[in-house]
Amino acid sequence: MPVQRPFNFSAGPATLPEPVLQQVAAEMLDWGGSGMSVMEMSHRGKEFISIYEQAEADLRELLAVPANFRILFMQGGGLGENAIVPLNLSRGGKVDVAVTGSWSRKSAAEARRYADVQVVAEGSGRNIPGSANTWSLRSDAAYVHVCTNETIDGVEFHELPRIDNGVPLVIDCSSHLLSRPIDWSRVGLAFGGAQKNIGPAGLTLVFVRDDLLGHALDICPSAFNYKTVADNQSMFNTPPTFAIYVAGLVFQWVKQFTYAGLQGLAAMEQRNIDKAALLYTTLDASSLYENRVEADCRSRMNVPFYLKDDALNERFLAEAKAAGLLQLKGHKSVGGMRASIYNAMPLEGVQALVNFLKEFEARHG
Ligand SMILES: *Cc1c(COP(=O)(O)O)cnc(C)c1O
Repeated sequence: MPVQRPFNFSAGPATLPEPVLQQVAAEMLDWGGSGMSVMEMSHRGKEFISIYEQAEADLRELLAVPANFRILFMQGGGLGENAIVPLNLSRGGKVDVAVTGSWSRKSAAEARRYADVQVVAEGSGRNIPGSANTWSLRSDAAYVHVCTNETIDGVEFHELPRIDNGVPLVIDCSSHLLSRPIDWSRVGLAFGGAQKNIGPAGLTLVFVRDDLLGHALDICPSAFNYKTVADNQSMFNTPPTFAIYVAGLVFQWVKQFTYAGLQGLAAMEQRNIDKAALLYTTLDASSLYENRVEADCRSRMNVPFYLKDDALNERFLAEAKAAGLLQLKGHKSVGGMRASIYNAMPLEGVQALVNFLKEFEARHG
């Protein structure tokens, strides 16, 4: 076992809990006395079915997913869902999108291929453009789309928008899924790629309310038809079995996680709050670094920041790497730095980053 791995701040695919990686390694050649790796099992065999059912039950429990929601284990990623959602839900009609950053902008563009899309509110990339009752929502829209955590911009909805006109809300929660509870009373459909906060790339989770199933356009591929996938317990075609297995171990890890006298998702959320506060406080107190997102919608998961002088960027990244702090480079579209501090990032990792930030500023600020 490695003595101490570096802390990995990648936005995704992202760091995974070390105990999960160790268990995966230990079970790689022989899962549970089956004589097979999970990668080698039939998805219809009793071994894999038990892995799948446990993962689904644990996820449902962790997020308190109501009985009238189906959980689908799909492929295609967040970008795939940008097409799969309108194919299933738009009925060729109207789709309202609130643009709060790069990902919701992409979602609007993709949905335009299938539906009459209207941008009903547009933020600056550093804010959330008002509450939903100020948006120009259409009461005959098929759904309203929101990205609840903008991974590139670092903008997060700390409360889900309340859509009062009865139109279902669709949330892309790829980069903060399982970092906090979800208010299902406000949601019609939620989706997220696994590679940020859940497990390996290749698995996409979809939570869909029953009444939204069964309205897919004729051109919707069968493997992406939510009703078909739901009717077949996510096994209409071969699901991403190994990724589901790893995600299942992550769900177990979250369930057992304790912090500040709390357990499970509540403990995880509290640690995420504390990690983010530690990092933002340090950035705000500094005269070298700057986070530009408005305080009430700063992401707990993705913290973009800029150095006062771009000429220091390369040196910052090199010295961070030498200090055991990996993948801090910001997304190429916005530049600067970004620290992604998902569930699997321990408090010690954020503390190490904060220490480095202060040392670097003392030397170069
Ligand atoms: C990463 C991400 C996506 C894209 O996911 P892919 O799996 O690369 O398709 C979509 N939305 C958000 C919010 C993301 O963070």
